[in-house]
Amino acid sequence: MNCKEPSLDMNWQDQRQELVDTMRKLDQLGMVSGSSGNASVRLPASGTQKKLFLVTPAGVSYDTLTAEQIVLVDDDMNPVGNTAESPTSEALLHKAVYDQRRDVEAIIHTHSVYASVQAVKAEAIPPIIDEMVVYIGGTIEVSEYGFPGTPELAENSLKALGDKRAAIIRNHGMFAVADTLKESLRVAELVERVAKIYVNAKMSGTIIPVPDHAVEAEREMYLTRTGLKLT
Ligand SMILES: [Zn+2]
Repeated sequence: MNCKEPSLDMNWQDQRQELVDTMRKLDQLGMVSGSSGNASVRLPASGTQKKLFLVTPAGVSYDTLTAEQIVLVDDDMNPVGNTAESPTSEALLHKAVYDQRRDVEAIIHTHSVYASVQAVKAEAIPPIIDEMVVYIGGTIEVSEYGFPGTPELAENSLKALGDKRAAIIRNHGMFAVADTLKESLRVAELVERVAKIYVNAKMSGTIIPVPDHAVEAEREMYLTRTGLKLT
């Protein structure tokens, strides 16, 4: 066996299957539909090994998606090895986040409805629920507009993300990041739930945000649990 590129020799079956299961779950939750949205995971690399990622393919419906259709890409998001599929059209967004955020190992992008309401209104979601500060990092910002699939969308999204775990992409959707795919899914679900609460609360009355002193304490908790706090 040629062991020059150990990562390329590996199948990464578990990680591929986890991506398939994650997209199916998002589909069941109504957070993606057809082939919209996407996800990726960073693969462990050491020494001189190339940086590699697994990403969902472009244009494959989630009800038929298989582990074999997940695309292995290099750190320029170009497919490597034998694959019939192309990586998601938003691969540049994934690359931009992995390049900038060493703490991020998995990314989920959805077109979920309530986050998209905020994307259409270009309105950030302030800290209205304690949980969102602890797990997302605070206000969920909205990016400047960028055309789908372009470096501009990737750059603007990264800017809106900052050091947090989610951001809304203007006129498009949202994305969530974390150290595992499972945690990214949890963050994505939380973003959608918070957006739903915000939209409904805004329609029915005055919104009372989380008090500043609590946001400050919760932000510290976020920075500590994500390892982003420099000690
Ligand atoms: Zn999208």
